Amino acid sequence: MDKNPVANLDSVKQFNLARLFKIIVEYGLISRTQLVDVSNMAAGSVTKLSRLLIDQGLVHEVAHMASERGRKAVLLAPKSDDIQILAARADRQYLYVGLCDLSGNLLHRISVPLNARSEADFVAQITQTLTQFLTDHVDQIRHIIGVGVTMPGLVDAENGVVNFMPHVPVNQLPLRQLLQDALGLPCYLNSFSSAMALAEKQIGASFHAKNSLFVEIHNGVGSGLIINDELHSGAGVGEIGHIQVDPLGKHCVCGNFGCLETVVSDGAITLNYAYRAGETGNTTLTIKDVVSRAIALEPTAIAVLKDAAAHLGSAIAMVVNVLRPDSIILAGEITQAWAIIEPVIQQQLKTKSLQIQGLNNVAVVRSDLYDSPWYSGYALVRQALLSGELLPNLLVPDQTETN
Ligand SMILES: [Zn+2]
Repeated sequence: MDKNPVANLDSVKQFNLARLFKIIVEYGLISRTQLVDVSNMAAGSVTKLSRLLIDQGLVHEVAHMASERGRKAVLLAPKSDDIQILAARADRQYLYVGLCDLSGNLLHRISVPLNARSEADFVAQITQTLTQFLTDHVDQIRHIIGVGVTMPGLVDAENGVVNFMPHVPVNQLPLRQLLQDALGLPCYLNSFSSAMALAEKQIGASFHAKNSLFVEIHNGVGSGLIINDELHSGAGVGEIGHIQVDPLGKHCVCGNFGCLETVVSDGAITLNYAYRAGETGNTTLTIKDVVSRAIALEPTAIAVLKDAAAHLGSAIAMVVNVLRPDSIILAGEITQAWAIIEPVIQQQLKTKSLQIQGLNNVAVVRSDLYDSPWYSGYALVRQALLSGELLPNLLVPDQTETN
């Protein structure tokens, strides 16, 4: 028996099979005629390869009422329920774990405190939590195709290595290999912001955008970049938080002064508010308080958020001048005060980015997915599947011969 389950398919067929599957997943429901149009493949190949996807249990036929004369059409749909993804996000305090189907429906989730002080602790806590999750939910697990894990910091996604995390010291941590060895499943890693940019592209606010920027404001400022429908990631990519917005500003963790995150991170905004509101002695004050006071129309809170939004808008305008994305998705606690910050950001974009007739409008929107941390890991595995990388793992060897 051949070890490679797709050995019977030549590379062109493998490529075309992956393309067809991707189109069917992205459309959700599609006829064979539409598939021929969208894929530009010959009708015979579409028939043959879609039959293979059906035989493999990846796609099924659905009777659909066509609009004209009530005739039933047969459409193809992915068998999303049968394909599952284990997704995890580690932030500074918690590990969020979710089991999703291919459509992104959350089947089960847990969150556990994460208090790792060392690299070894971090690996042990993630491995134990994921292993326990798999054991606890064995009855609900049908077919997990991969595990996606995201974290704050710098991640070399290609090699599965964590280069830096703000809350745990790591030294070239080969986390992907360690997780794969422990779980026996293909694993994918990336920084949370990069993975969220991908999630927004797949099922969120930037679904229709070819180029988009995801910006998260939290303890720092993270961002993820989609260029020509592809995630552009790598260590040091998307470090919008270290654009200098105030040369005379505060010292930043990166060694520079007045970086964006020294003025718009949750801590910086809270401190600024405490200072201006005369509440520097209030040690329980959080960004949530500042945002809710702004929403309740307290002038100082509004002024502080507007100042932060101006700096954020100014940095975003620089990115717009270089990359001209179709959409910018913002996430984080301050976006709860959207009616206050959005006009300020728009004003900065208007005055600091190129405005010439014919250029695309840059949409600035709030993230809908941010409150669902598992979507970041989900996006990494879905991407691996639809790119064709994971598809061979799903095919049964003796059904791959098409001729
Ligand atoms: Zn910096």
